[in-house]
Amino acid sequence: PFNLIWFRRDLRVADNPALMAAVATGQPVIAVFIHSRQEGGDFALGAASRWWLHHSLTALARDLERLSIPLLTLRGGSLPMLRRVIAALPVASVHWNRRYDPALIEVDMAVKDGLQADGVGAHSHKAHLLLEPWEIATGVGTPYRVFTPFWRKATATVRAEAPLPEPHVQAWSNDLNQVLDGAKATLPLKTLSELNLLPKLPWADGFSAIWHPGEHGAQERLTQFLSSDVQSYRQGRDYPAERITSRLSPHLAFGEISPRQILAMVHAHWNSGMGLPPDADFFVRELFWREFSYHLLFHFPKTPTENLSDEFDQFAWREPDATLLRAWHMGRTGLPIIDAGMRELWTTGYMHNRVRMLVASVLTKNLRYHWLHGARWFWDTLVDADLANNTQGWQWSAGTGADAAPYFRIFNPVTQGERFDPEGRYVRQFVPELARVPNKFVHQPWSLPATELARLGLAGTPYARPLIDLSGSRADALDAYKQRHD
Ligand code: FAD
Repeated sequence: PFNLIWFRRDLRVADNPALMAAVATGQPVIAVFIHSRQEGGDFALGAASRWWLHHSLTALARDLERLSIPLLTLRGGSLPMLRRVIAALPVASVHWNRRYDPALIEVDMAVKDGLQADGVGAHSHKAHLLLEPWEIATGVGTPYRVFTPFWRKATATVRAEAPLPEPHVQAWSNDLNQVLDGAKATLPLKTLSELNLLPKLPWADGFSAIWHPGEHGAQERLTQFLSSDVQSYRQGRDYPAERITSRLSPHLAFGEISPRQILAMVHAHWNSGMGLPPDADFFVRELFWREFSYHLLFHFPKTPTENLSDEFDQFAWREPDATLLRAWHMGRTGLPIIDAGMRELWTTGYMHNRVRMLVASVLTKNLRYHWLHGARWFWDTLVDADLANNTQGWQWSAGTGADAAPYFRIFNPVTQGERFDPEGRYVRQFVPELARVPNKFVHQPWSLPATELARLGLAGTPYARPLIDLSGSRADALDAYKQRHD
């Protein structure tokens, strides 16, 4: 019989426990990918993620070919499609790595039940996280809601484990290939381009210059980061123009690299005598923020759409004004660092973490729109869209989440810009209209004299008069916060 490895968000061949387990059966292994967009429920894969997925699958197909593992690509419901494969071929077992989006957990449970009822082995494995969300709990047995104690317990619990190597697979005999070819003829297989993952309009054209989706790209990114940028991570990570962070987030989101591989590489650098600076600790701590997000998502599955803190259930969010919401989407609010962030997102599929916090503060506090409006836009436009991290990031920023920035802490995008982008390099990169504005005014061009604004071509633009009145909207938000229980 054959054994299937069902790929989902674990698009790598090294350190892939499900793949290794399928290979360990000693029987021939077939890889399956099923594009089941509707199964994501409220959070079906967004457009930027689909772009990434297309390229990541291209890379995975190449790696599987190198290992002599055939890949079948299908579209439709997970269980019906797996059943089609099993009807076409004798299959002993199906292996997959766990995922944690609430809607997908349900799908996976139904698949497991269905396969077991059919008499086919169904085995799930841990691959995406260092710790399963249920592996640790507070002293009284409840889930964590505060990061620091979670982090202490998690770091004390995680064991340093060597990542799994790429599996070694025997080449197939002609007989086996013939059986597979016969089965293929009966299956509704799709080519990658038939999955229609790429956007119809060429808005993602710039992405390829920046990103290299796939396992190889992920390893390259990590090696490069550990050999240079990590040296100044602690100081530099808050400065968007420095581009010092690892940018591993989309690779992690698609499982092209595992957190276990990252930890092992960090430790290898530590032990190699090259002496990684203590900054590496700060980087590792971020990986535990990711673990914390998954812990929260698993234990509070309502949080992708509902406040974690019910204190906000009666909060007076405002109905979005279509023009203002559009201006926020497109980076045309007149607030330089906000516009730079939103344009970075639109043109690259990514936004620096500090700027994510600022644009989220403007949306949920100055504009006082429900955080879901922001979370949904990010979901569609981020190449690293990840339900756990995005939910946690938005709820944290809005003050509705676990261990969150309190609602009354409202970032001022001007002073934040001046502090974290002091020369305006980040702003100028994404908002070229401001290229000639002197540093002193680049975060508040409206303070320039009218004659200067006219000379720089900014008169009559949102940079002469932003669409959002920062101080008035701040006072309104604080008022609404005070009245939240009324
Ligand atoms: P690095 O600084 O190099 O960190 C390494 C890894 O640690 C990241 O790749 C990520 O997996 C994890 N990490 C870092 N910061 C955080 C954090 N604050 N919370 C959880 N994990 C973290 N991250 C996503 O991966 N997907 C999202 O959809 C997402 N949405 C966000 C929305 C908002 C409003 C905010 C404020 C943050 C969001 N983040 C999200 C978290 C963070 O901004 C990104 O993980 C980070 O910017 C990715 O860049 P990097 O890989 O260079 O990070």
